[in-house]
Amino acid sequence: MIRKILKKASKGQSLDKKEILTLFKINKKENLKELMETAEEIRNQNFKSIKLTSTIHLTNKCQITPKCKYCGFAAKTSTEGYYNAFYKKDDEILAAAECVDKSGIPRISCSGAHGYKGKQAVNAARIVKENTKLELLINVGSDLTEKSLKQLIDYNTDTICCNLETTNNNLFNEVKPGEKLIDRINMCKMISDYDIELSSGLLIGLGESYEDRVKHLLYLKEFENLGEIPVMGFNPYADTPMANHPPCPINEQLKAIAITRLVYPEIRITTPTPTIGPENAVQSLNAGSNNLATVIPEDYPSVVKGVGSPTYGNLKEVLKLLKSLNLKAEHN
Ligand code: SF4
Repeated sequence: MIRKILKKASKGQSLDKKEILTLFKINKKENLKELMETAEEIRNQNFKSIKLTSTIHLTNKCQITPKCKYCGFAAKTSTEGYYNAFYKKDDEILAAAECVDKSGIPRISCSGAHGYKGKQAVNAARIVKENTKLELLINVGSDLTEKSLKQLIDYNTDTICCNLETTNNNLFNEVKPGEKLIDRINMCKMISDYDIELSSGLLIGLGESYEDRVKHLLYLKEFENLGEIPVMGFNPYADTPMANHPPCPINEQLKAIAITRLVYPEIRITTPTPTIGPENAVQSLNAGSNNLATVIPEDYPSVVKGVGSPTYGNLKEVLKLLKSLNLKAEHN
């Protein structure tokens, strides 16, 4: 049965709900291996190199109340995270962007906490685009207005990200009590309607079922301009209400990446190194992802604590890793 589904995907045929669910239910090692091999093959047919994306965290002063239960990014949420409040000044954003540009990493993500109606994002887009040749992804969730979205487009932002995390509404309300799923959905629609590339991802391991994951993956087809799907794995941050929630098992994360590749053969699939652990990045590439995010150059001018966990991918190590896998990095 599984072989038949994988063969169908290899031929470029779309999989139905039941078939995708069967893949999520894989629990034998050899089946997972076959799934990953198929996903890797499809990735190799569609992409000749692996994209690298660095990051600038603009601010961790988040006005969402109550805070998302897993958040270790916002000020005072976790002693493992940034903990102290910060709001990056223009010269700090510029220094980070220039460092990344100089390092040869082609792309940067500027992300930040909620409560600014996109003003912090527009300012970062201006600085990045006026001073570097970096491709730019902006991620401030649903904290954008139509006006700030248009300004981001005017500054030639390449991609705007709004992760739904999970499309299970009850679970969303449980883990993100200060936000509404519909606001994030509407933001994705608005981004997509403005004809700019949308990135929207899944956070695996929050407590969602396999059926939820299938529905979420297929729901993303609603967005015409979807160009990127980050597949993130839940990691508990100390001191948060979800500190004792189990981390997403690596195999579940790999399965989700590989299935996403089968459902979306030509899309950019992103593995943020903090949410998989830099040491597992190799497996995520073997599962068909083609973008490693939160890759940080050695001389990066400020401290980075990954959004999903305090770790990140070091550029030198990531390049070594790609070389060992015979994969070409998109590195200028
Ligand atoms: S996850 Fe984002 S929106 Fe939620 S509390 Fe943290 S910074 Fe704010």
